[in-house]
Amino acid sequence: AKAAGKNCVRTAGHTIDSAMGRRAQLAADLPTALEEEQFRVVYQPVAGVEDRRILGLEALVRWDHPVLGTVPPDEFIELAEADGLIVPLQQWVLRKATADFAGLLVDDRDLKLGVNVSVRHLQAGCLAPDVAAALADSGVPPHRLMIEVTESIMLDAEDRLQSDLATLRDMGCIISLDDFGRGYSSLAYLARLPVDVLKMDREFIGDIESDPRGAALVAAVIDLGRTLGMDVVAEGVETAGQLHALRDMECRYVQGWLLGRPMAIEDLPAFLEAFDPA
Ligand code: C2E
Ligand code: CA
Ligand code: CA
Ligand code: CA
Repeated sequence: AKAAGKNCVRTAGHTIDSAMGRRAQLAADLPTALEEEQFRVVYQPVAGVEDRRILGLEALVRWDHPVLGTVPPDEFIELAEADGLIVPLQQWVLRKATADFAGLLVDDRDLKLGVNVSVRHLQAGCLAPDVAAALADSGVPPHRLMIEVTESIMLDAEDRLQSDLATLRDMGCIISLDDFGRGYSSLAYLARLPVDVLKMDREFIGDIESDPRGAALVAAVIDLGRTLGMDVVAEGVETAGQLHALRDMECRYVQGWLLGRPMAIEDLPAFLEAFDPA
């Protein structure tokens, strides 16, 4: 019999079992991971389409699991949300990212810092004070911070959540709607939410070169954003062709592997210098 590799198990049952095993292990290890600070934050550049200047950095969390190696956020954020650990994790990310960013602010580029937040943190009622504390301790001015929320906030009927977002906005923070176009998009909500920036999901960017209908949709979202007074960021830009197509649509901001992969804070000064001599 052929030896089945780790990722090549023979029966569906076994596949499910090993997936559950990993999930269960990650869930069980999360509290220790927080105590021992097994997390790290990497930063991906957001650039202007016209001149490719770096305008912002998005903070993305990673878990360096002692046995399983680097675990991506898509695997553990949901687990952290399920057992209430998302709030302490998010507090840690906010503090780490603002502290890292404060170190970069010494030169006077007008960079923004994007931090992803969970709707659970909003529901817990302490997002605005946690953001305020991280800003105060790091000295990062509020207008430099972009809070990225997903459309799942729209599923929450409570207006309180939206008023908390409005509080953050009143503090001067920028609010962006992440993964726009994936999931539960609703134009009615879009007009109502206190949102400054639309981040268009990378699913839509992937085939704009080959799919005219997809491209028309992207162009329409860019126009919609402009009409509503929002900036639009196209996510997941991987090819020069996609970048050109987006430029033709007068999209102004892009993010993706073409411009830069997420990287350690230590690598940013050299990257910024090489990519974008100020
Ligand atoms: P997101 O906010 O949509 O972040 C963008 C994701 O797309 C990142 O995945 C990034 O590495 C990936 N990406 C960027 N450019 C490209 C590209 O050109 N091609 C492709 N294929 N992918 C690209 P990542 O880092 O694995 O993060 C996944 C998601 O986890 C994020 O999606 C975000 O929703 C969530 N997340 C990350 N960090 C945090 C955090 O600190 N707190 C919370 N609540 N969620 C986080
Ligand atoms: Ca994001
Ligand atoms: Ca996104
Ligand atoms: Ca996302």
